[in-house]
Amino acid sequence: MATATYDNGTWSDFVIEPFGNLSLSPAAMVLHYGQAVFEGLKAFRQADGSVALFRPEDNARRFDSSARRLAMPELPGGLFLAACEAVVQVDAASIPTGQGESFYLRPMMFATEPALGVRAADEYSFVVLGSPVGAYFGDAAHAISVWADPSLVRAAPGGTGAAKCSGNYAASLIAKSEAVARGCDEALWLDAREHRLVEELGGMNFVAVEETANGPCLVTPPLSDTILDGITRRSVLTLAESLGWKTDERAISLADLKAGLFGEAFACGTAAVVVPIGQILTEDDAITIGDGQPGATTLRLRAELVALQEGRVDDPFGWRHSVTTSNS
Ligand SMILES: *Cc1c(COP(=O)(O)O)cnc(C)c1O
Repeated sequence: MATATYDNGTWSDFVIEPFGNLSLSPAAMVLHYGQAVFEGLKAFRQADGSVALFRPEDNARRFDSSARRLAMPELPGGLFLAACEAVVQVDAASIPTGQGESFYLRPMMFATEPALGVRAADEYSFVVLGSPVGAYFGDAAHAISVWADPSLVRAAPGGTGAAKCSGNYAASLIAKSEAVARGCDEALWLDAREHRLVEELGGMNFVAVEETANGPCLVTPPLSDTILDGITRRSVLTLAESLGWKTDERAISLADLKAGLFGEAFACGTAAVVVPIGQILTEDDAITIGDGQPGATTLRLRAELVALQEGRVDDPFGWRHSVTTSNS
């Protein structure tokens, strides 16, 4: 893992050390006040044997913006990327070679200053962990079901919904448990005011597919301070346009979904890439999307994105960031 520390207004350089426990004061502010932000990105073994990170500069930018929202310091330019590259380099031998497999990186920052007063902290740690991973939900040929809770809220206007902070996840776990208790795979979050508009999943953005006379149109809720600006979301929108499909960032209500406006829906995020959604369970309805099975547009997008990530096709958008490793 890579670690760096912030003290007296400056960041140290990072060091690479073996994965192991951290030493932390019980008064460390993160344990009391939750100042913790993180990222998730992947390195992919390329078809030619080399290794590339997928859009890591975007994660670095989002990390800084999450930190700003929590009154935490930004990282010095280049530190995020250099630490991620260094972890990939020392772990190069454990980067899997199979299709759908990758090496997951988890950069994080948290307040270490020992103090019980409630205020922005003055000391932080930045840590990057890495781990080989397989497919998140297993087989993409399986459509997941989601539970839209009638009362729980993930993010409200003015809150931290657009920041990738640990507290958002802590607050969402009860809905995930409720989803599982109802036989669903994941929670689907609705808008805080009326519980009517679809926002996103706990760690993935939501996209629906409308069939038009001119082909598929990807519809996804517009970004706001209650929706995380997912890099996979942006990637599928760009890919869809490059395939000649339409995209539309507009509100999607449960009523639209119930009325059958969309033939397909999927969730997207770094960990699971693109996951078909077959059913939405609400307090009153069980809404089946299309025929409840993974749709052709969803599967095509998933295949295109994974092929690009794994270096099996050209990279016209400059999304691959290659990392020099000793065995490539
Ligand atoms: C990380 C995350 C996503 C997905 O973002 P990616 O950059 O695509 O991985 C979506 N929603 C939430 C709440 C997240 O934390």
